[in-house]
Amino acid sequence: MSARVAVVTGSNKGIGFGIVKGLCQQLAGGIVYLTARNPDLGHKAVGNLRGQLTAEEHVKVRFHQLDITDEASAIKLRDHLKREHGGLDILVSNAGIAFDVEAKEPFGEQAVVTIGINYYGTKKFCDVIFPLLRPHARVVNVSSRAGIHKKYTDDVVKTLLSEDLTVAQLDEFVETFIKYAKEGTHQKHGYPNSTYSVSKAAEIALTLIQHRQSLKDSRKDIVINACCPGYVNTDMTNHKGSLTIEEGADTPVYLALLPPDTTEPKGEFVYERKVIPW
Ligand code: NDP
Repeated sequence: MSARVAVVTGSNKGIGFGIVKGLCQQLAGGIVYLTARNPDLGHKAVGNLRGQLTAEEHVKVRFHQLDITDEASAIKLRDHLKREHGGLDILVSNAGIAFDVEAKEPFGEQAVVTIGINYYGTKKFCDVIFPLLRPHARVVNVSSRAGIHKKYTDDVVKTLLSEDLTVAQLDEFVETFIKYAKEGTHQKHGYPNSTYSVSKAAEIALTLIQHRQSLKDSRKDIVINACCPGYVNTDMTNHKGSLTIEEGADTPVYLALLPPDTTEPKGEFVYERKVIPW
């Protein structure tokens, strides 16, 4: 059997770096791509990682540039994977951003940027890379409990949870939020006062759509889940998080390595290795 190949987006630091480290330790005979939008930061991270792993573990790590919002960058990585390995076995969509609470950018601008990366970027990269997924592939979208849907009006919740939700409707959900965010009327219209929360709610809903689509495409062997890594000590949390990056990586790595013929969790939102109602 050929080596299993994994890609982790946004892994030059933080939880993504912890996920690459965990996969190098646990993916027997595998190849793990640490990716970064900035190649200098990526190469530096690979050097740093090598110092934290045994020789047997660190031979698994490779680097490739990837900006999830840049289609040309995504296509370059896809073509590289196809040429070098013929497919992909594990995709962890971890890349994401959050504006600092003190950020001075107008709320509407924060909404465009946050949703542009966390939702549209994740979606775009998945669209490019999914055709490479091999039998029994595992996909993990690193979302957040901040994306819990309970913060919305009943109508919005009904739409988000609908078994028939389409990507077009989900795009409409985020576009409506962006419109209201620019006007400053988002709270009046039942949205939370957090661009990050909306982006993460959309990411979870996207995961459920991807799961349902994989079943429709007769790809029952593929397992797609979203998860929350917990409150982790990274730049994103200004290092206030209580978990180490290795602890934050635990659930994503667990989901990435679910064995063949897994029936549960599948198309779920997972926290601390447990399915939680979204
Ligand atoms: P960090 O800010 O430490 O790291 C984020 C990573 O994403 C960086 O490598 C960053 O690259 C990368 N990134 C951002 N935008 C892009 C892009 N367009 N293309 C490719 N890579 C990009 O965050 P965390 O490690 O804390 O967060 C990782 C994930 O976990 C995020 O999705 C976050 O929402 C989620 N999460 C985090 C929690 C926490 O407590 N930390 C809690 C719940 C969820 P660069 O260095 O170039 O900026």
